[in-house]
Amino acid sequence: MKRSEVDRNKLSPMMQQYMEIKDNYQDELLFYRLGDFYELFFEDGLTASRELELTLTGRVAGLEERVPMCGVPHHTVKSYIEKLVNKGYRVAICEQLEDSKNTTGMVKRGVVDVFSKGTITDNDLLNEHDSSYIAGILFFDDTIILSIMDISTGYLASLMIPNDSEKLINEILNYKIKEVVLMDNLNTKLIDLLKNTYNIEITLSSKLLENKYTEIYDTVPDIRAKKGIMHLFYYLDNRQLKDLSFIDHVERIEKDNYLEMNIHTIRNLELVETLRLKERTYSLVWLLDKCKTAMGSRNLKNWLLNPLKDRKKIEERYDKIEKLNNEFILKDELRNALYEVYDIERLAGKIVNGSLNARDLLQLKRSLKVLPSIKDIIKKLDFSYEINTHFEVYELLEKSIDENPPISLKEGGLIKKGYNTELDELKEIRSGGKDFVAKFENEIKERTGIKNLKVGFNKVFGYFIEVPNGSKDLIKEEYGWYRKQTLTNCERYISPDLKEKESLILNAEEKIVELEYNLFCEIKNILKDEVIDFKKTATALSEIDALTSLAICSEEYNLVRPTLNENGVVNIKKGRHPVVEIVSKSEYVPNDCILEKETNTLLITGPNMSGKSTYMRQLAIIIIMAQIGSFVPAESAELSIFDKIFTRIGASDDLVSGESTFMVEMKEAQNAILGATEKSLILFDELGRGTATYDGMSLAQAILEYISENIHATTLFSTHYHELTKLEKKYRNIKNVHVSAIENNDTLTFLHKVKNGPADKSYGIHVAKLAKMPDKLLERATNILNDYEKNKKTTNDSQIQLSMAFVEETPKENILKDKISKIDPLNMTPIEALNYLYELKKEIE
Ligand code: ADP
Ligand code: MG
Repeated sequence: MKRSEVDRNKLSPMMQQYMEIKDNYQDELLFYRLGDFYELFFEDGLTASRELELTLTGRVAGLEERVPMCGVPHHTVKSYIEKLVNKGYRVAICEQLEDSKNTTGMVKRGVVDVFSKGTITDNDLLNEHDSSYIAGILFFDDTIILSIMDISTGYLASLMIPNDSEKLINEILNYKIKEVVLMDNLNTKLIDLLKNTYNIEITLSSKLLENKYTEIYDTVPDIRAKKGIMHLFYYLDNRQLKDLSFIDHVERIEKDNYLEMNIHTIRNLELVETLRLKERTYSLVWLLDKCKTAMGSRNLKNWLLNPLKDRKKIEERYDKIEKLNNEFILKDELRNALYEVYDIERLAGKIVNGSLNARDLLQLKRSLKVLPSIKDIIKKLDFSYEINTHFEVYELLEKSIDENPPISLKEGGLIKKGYNTELDELKEIRSGGKDFVAKFENEIKERTGIKNLKVGFNKVFGYFIEVPNGSKDLIKEEYGWYRKQTLTNCERYISPDLKEKESLILNAEEKIVELEYNLFCEIKNILKDEVIDFKKTATALSEIDALTSLAICSEEYNLVRPTLNENGVVNIKKGRHPVVEIVSKSEYVPNDCILEKETNTLLITGPNMSGKSTYMRQLAIIIIMAQIGSFVPAESAELSIFDKIFTRIGASDDLVSGESTFMVEMKEAQNAILGATEKSLILFDELGRGTATYDGMSLAQAILEYISENIHATTLFSTHYHELTKLEKKYRNIKNVHVSAIENNDTLTFLHKVKNGPADKSYGIHVAKLAKMPDKLLERATNILNDYEKNKKTTNDSQIQLSMAFVEETPKENILKDKISKIDPLNMTPIEALNYLYELKKEIE
């Protein structure tokens, strides 16, 4: 049965209401609240039953057939939403907006929230280490505007990049954006790639939200950026019903202020996840993250993905780390205090958008409690952070929120005694029928003078006043009592005020629940006004936490403060790869790395498994660590500030996008060649191995030459083409180094030590042996190799022709060249010149 084909006039009133609401949420699965369940009807019901493996039932709704229906209990709804959203569905939650008790007829219902991949705010559904971004994308002639928002924290940024889909995808993947909002579906290639290759949710929304949140728009000078925010806001505000009033500013990200790395570099260097398993464990962020708060972790990750270029800012961080390490007692106190701090950033988001409960407020209270001591420590450290202690909010929460509240807001137990008199009275009444009865009994004894009356309770009449026969006459008409039951020696009465109290007692529970809920909402509203300040506090704490984490790392991993320069000089003594060092079972062999403008390229040779890739990554990681403001793994380090890092490391195919190794390789190389400047670092690891030898070798050489002649970037180039080592002679800036290994009785011991000069051979077969290849196979390989080597010496085959590209100049030519270059014809008499020419000719003969 299709929803669109149903005769609406025949439908029951409830189903008509459903239809009307659903009309506005056609792209969403509509969860329609009915009592304790959320129900999905028609096609939604079919989809949900299929995707969630739930039974499909039906509901009588006025039609001949029952309407397909599928439901989930309201208290477990989160897990179902999560499943559906992860599968790429959008979910709209439709609630009852009034209490069915207080209405006759249909209860009003409306959609209160919409969930999609990029707009989840629930802590349970989010990873605490990752931000959760949605982005609006607008295309202009030469520019793309990305408006990026984390709805769980209220972070909003505007980013401008060149109109180039590769760059766009790069940013989307870098930020791990989960959902993008596009104006239209015209760019089918992009949409297909995002959706099917990278599993990113695509949303189409073409309108702008112009007349709301103008104070936010006003802070954005660029008209295109402003339009981008309006576009994203329309979707969030109008379609998703999100409250955006807690956004205090739009961060304008100038890519130019940060060290540029593309997604390949970030992956290759395993900054936030490992290459193979895509896990955080054993990534650089895993190593460096000693943060005590989730906010700190997210901030540190953000630093790693956006290292700085501003020397002053970087050195400020070094100074702080140094200070923290000197003041180690304060540092410990700070860590202990931060340990008490919860995710204020996301709590703030939840106050505005999301299902805030009383436990969240307890977390907030506990976090606020330590702020005075953090403020105190920060002052002692002389750090320039403003810490607002939110004292009034703390007091409010301390006074109001129960220490042990349930998750649900609809069962009471939220509010402390002493906060609200009406509530306290209700609770007294509830708990105590008894106290209340005694109090009431005394009261009427006083009033009536009947000292031997009693107040009692039975199931049939409820509360009653029992008066012994002897005192019956003392009851006056004006009391308004009336007789309910006559026993042998007494009469039982009820009175209007007793009945009133009775209904109070019996309704107390319900009233308590309602009042507590209302009080909670009141408190929530007070907090709403403080949210922007909470966010500022959260930002300060996240920075302090990340810095302290780096300080801890500097001691734990024995890091050293680098000195910075801007002239291309790198001088690392005994550098280490921090992750390999920690993870590897054997002793790590430290290595130096010396580069300068005149010698800015290292050509690295050495057997497989000797440590070439590690050495290259090590340099990049040291530079990145230095530029996020961290100390670095070395005995000493002098480092130039780099503007971009390009890498081509490892031979793994880009499995996701299905491109071959070689294509990926060439694209990454092209990227570097187009993008690099003389302030950039290029790491090319065994470039060219993805194609036939001569092809690969020629390309590798041409690329290396091109970089040396035209780009002058600092370059590490590892290769297994030994012919390339001859380039050292031709280019002054290229220097050969090799990673050493010792060959001993056919076995190979890796020293992992980087030494000057080229390696003498490539040892592939030894490594195959290490990998326990069958002996017979190894023997055969050795024979083939020997044949090759023999041929190389005797025949004039193409390999030799190719080697002509590297023809070395003979010593004689060198001498001649040297001599000629030294003469100064302008300062010679003709006869001197003639004599010199004669001499040179003689030399040749
Ligand atoms: P290559 O690129 O030359 O094939 P890798 O850089 O992949 O070699 O290193 C191979 C292995 O050697 C690494 O997994 C690492 O465990 C070890 N290794 C590399 N460099 C070092 C070092 N400096 N000290 C200790 N072990 C190292
Ligand atoms: Mg390697």
